[in-house]
Amino acid sequence: MTIDSYANRFVCDLQAYEPGKPIDETARELGLDPSQIVKVASNENPLGPSPMAKAAMRAALEEAHIYPDGGGYRLRTAIADSLGLGFENVVLGNGSNEIIELLCHTFLNRETELIAAEHAFVVYKLMATLFGAKYVEVPDPDFIHDLPAMADAITENTRLVFIANPNNPTGTMVDQQVIDRFMDRLPEHVIAVFDEAYIEFPGNPPDTLRYVREGRNVCVLRTFSKIHGLAGLRVGYGLAPAPLAALLQKARQPFNVNAIAQAGALAALTDKQHIANTRQVNREGMAFYEQAFRERALQFVPSQANFLLVKPGGGDRVFRDMLQQGVIVRAMSSYKLPDWIRISIGTDAHNQRCLEVLDAVLAKAKE
Ligand SMILES: *Cc1c(COP(=O)(O)O)cnc(C)c1O
Repeated sequence: MTIDSYANRFVCDLQAYEPGKPIDETARELGLDPSQIVKVASNENPLGPSPMAKAAMRAALEEAHIYPDGGGYRLRTAIADSLGLGFENVVLGNGSNEIIELLCHTFLNRETELIAAEHAFVVYKLMATLFGAKYVEVPDPDFIHDLPAMADAITENTRLVFIANPNNPTGTMVDQQVIDRFMDRLPEHVIAVFDEAYIEFPGNPPDTLRYVREGRNVCVLRTFSKIHGLAGLRVGYGLAPAPLAALLQKARQPFNVNAIAQAGALAALTDKQHIANTRQVNREGMAFYEQAFRERALQFVPSQANFLLVKPGGGDRVFRDMLQQGVIVRAMSSYKLPDWIRISIGTDAHNQRCLEVLDAVLAKAKE
């Protein structure tokens, strides 16, 4: 007997998440200097961490021998105050990915179902599989979540409906009206999960927090990984009515968010300048790529986030060829989009280099 035969079948069958290729790994494999590599593969903040967060983390190092505040009092209070919610509405996670896992712990088993869009963030599917639940995928014409169809897909076994807004990897967003109509149809036994990892980027984002305040079956996910530039810290949060938040709190480890991360995140919340700079760089980079892709007649999906889905054809090959030149983008075959790649918006220098290398790779392919 192999060890697999004793293990949980759902774990054996799982296709592990494939993250963006790390800079160090790329440098090792290709014999390149890490400082010469441009990584635009994981939607990280090209300006780096919030400077205020860095200072707070340095100070927090002095207390690293003390366990973190497991209740996350200061950070949860600051998040709640900034959003007009209560402390009891906030659940901290080791990245917002952990909140996804806590929701699945709390609501999924073999009899239940999770609904998501066809080109949604792949972690929802991994989690549903891990918990033995049925994963229900709803088509998303033109890469936009079809909320009426997702509401139609709800059965009595449905517990979670995931709506990534804006979605990764498509960058598309559904608006307030569509969300309101969806919420009108949400039955009592189903939780709507709005994954808002990129909600700080669009100009006019919908408001889902009103549903938290109204005590509806809603959990809103946010993160410090994107706009605040703290992906390496692993800190995110869920916002939910108090009874739902209390359930999620039971499902987590006692010290799930480390003390350095709590200190960094707390300072990042108040760093308005870094947030404004990040938005500005993102707007400029987005305009740069949109114009470049139009000039080259490359199909792309207009994005509300900090990345773009573009279709050069043969995405795996384009990814590999660009990698050889030290530019890491994301191939999309795991999203059933083999002709597409996803590019995170970088600094001006990153964007120029990435486009140059993409041009070179596409010219070579034509020879
Ligand atoms: C990046 C991202 C997150 C954030 O994950 P963290 O665990 O907070 O780093 C969540 N959802 C989506 C759709 C994302 O793209």
